[in-house]
Amino acid sequence: MPIATRAFAAVAADKPLEPFSFTRRDPLPDDVVIDIQYCGVCHSDLHMARSETGPAHYPLAPGHEIAGVVAAVGADVTRFKVGDRVGVGCMVDSCRECSSCQAGEEQYCIPGFTGTYGAKDRFAEQSGQPITQGGYSDHITVDQHFVLSIPDALPLDAAAPLLCAGITTWSPLKEWNVGPGSRVAVIGLGGLGHMAVKLAHALGAEVTVLSTSDRKKADAERMGAKHFLINKDKAAMKAAAESFDLIINTVSATHEIADHVQLLARDGTMVMLGLTTEGLPVYALPLLWRRRRVAGSLIGGIRETQEMLDFCAEHGIACDIETIAPDQINEAYERMERSDVRYRFVIDMAKLPQAA
Ligand code: NAP
Ligand code: ZN
Ligand code: ZN
Repeated sequence: MPIATRAFAAVAADKPLEPFSFTRRDPLPDDVVIDIQYCGVCHSDLHMARSETGPAHYPLAPGHEIAGVVAAVGADVTRFKVGDRVGVGCMVDSCRECSSCQAGEEQYCIPGFTGTYGAKDRFAEQSGQPITQGGYSDHITVDQHFVLSIPDALPLDAAAPLLCAGITTWSPLKEWNVGPGSRVAVIGLGGLGHMAVKLAHALGAEVTVLSTSDRKKADAERMGAKHFLINKDKAAMKAAAESFDLIINTVSATHEIADHVQLLARDGTMVMLGLTTEGLPVYALPLLWRRRRVAGSLIGGIRETQEMLDFCAEHGIACDIETIAPDQINEAYERMERSDVRYRFVIDMAKLPQAA
C-alpha cells in the first residue's frame, strides 16, 4: 500500500501553491522513510514552481532542503534506524556507475541525477507518481545513499537549508581551496549568500559582501563579512578592482556581470550559482588581461554534503531562518522575489492541514 502523503504544491505556473495529496512508495530494501519536520524554501523552488527554468510538470510539490526523523527503514538499510535525525537535499537517486557517481560527484551524474522534485520517478510503479515530489510534504521515501545524518548539535529547522544553500556554497569554497588568506566576495545576501559568508569566514577567508542596497550591511558583518559594498556604487566598485581571489555569485536574476569580473585579482574566479537562463555578457579582454575565469557549480556530492554538515556542527554554524506555516508559502515567494528574506524561509510541516 503506497503511503498517503499531504503536501503543498504548485498546480500551474501562474497560480498560488495549494494543499495537495498524493502517495509515496513503501520502503524498498534500501529505502528510508522520513517524517519531514522542516523544509527550507530555496529560490530554485520558486523558479521551478513558476516554470521559469523550463516547463514544469504539475502538480509539483517543491522542496529540497528536508530535515526530519526516520520513521521506517527497508530490510537492507544499515546506515540509519528509526528515530535518527536526517536530511535530504536536491538529489534522491543517480546512476551510481558513471565516472561522476564513482567519484562521489553524483550531482554531475552523466545520464543525470534524479532531482528530489520534478524529475521522472524511477519508481513510478511503486509510488503511483510520474514525477518525484519534494519536501513541502509530511514524509518522503528515499534510498539510503541519498540520506544525510544531521548531527545532534544542529537544530533541525536551522539545519534544513544546509541541504541546498549550505552545500551549494560549501562545494565551490572547497573546490577553489578557500582558507586563511583567501579574499572571497559574495554577490547577493540571500539564502545561498548568507551561507557563503558564514562558511567562507569559518574557513578563515576575508569576506566581502556585494549587495543591491545597504539594508543587509549589519547582518553581513554579524555573519562574518569584513567589508560590504553596494554594487551600484561605481566609485566603491572601482576602488575594489582586482581585490578578490574568488567571487561566489548567488544572484537569482539576470544581471550585469562585466563590472564584477573587474573585481577579480590575477587568476581569480567568479563562480556562477544562480539559475539564470538568459545570456550574461562576459568580455574576453578583462579575462585574458589577468587570467581570470568565470565558472559554474552545481550543489555538491553526497559525501561532501555530510562533510559540510559535520563542519557546521563543529563550528556552530546554521542558517538564519524565518519559520512559516505551509499556507504562508505564496507570501514567502512574493517576499523572496523582492529579496526580502532574512535569510531563509523554513516551512514547519507540523502545520500542514489535515487531509480532507
Ligand atoms: P535568494 O534567497 O532569493 O537570494 C538571491 C539574492 O540575490 C537576493 O537576496 C539579492 O541579494 C540578490 N538579487 C536578487 N535579484 C537581483 C538582481 N536583479 N540584481 C542583483 N542582485 C539581485 O535566492 P537563493 O535561494 O539564495 O538562490 C540564489 C540563486 O541560486 C537562485 O537562482 C537559485 O535558483 C540558485 N541556486 C543554484 C544552485 C546551484 O546548485 N547552482 C543551488 C541552489 C540555488 P541582495 O538583497 O543582497 O542584493
Ligand atoms: Zn535549492
Ligand atoms: Zn551517474
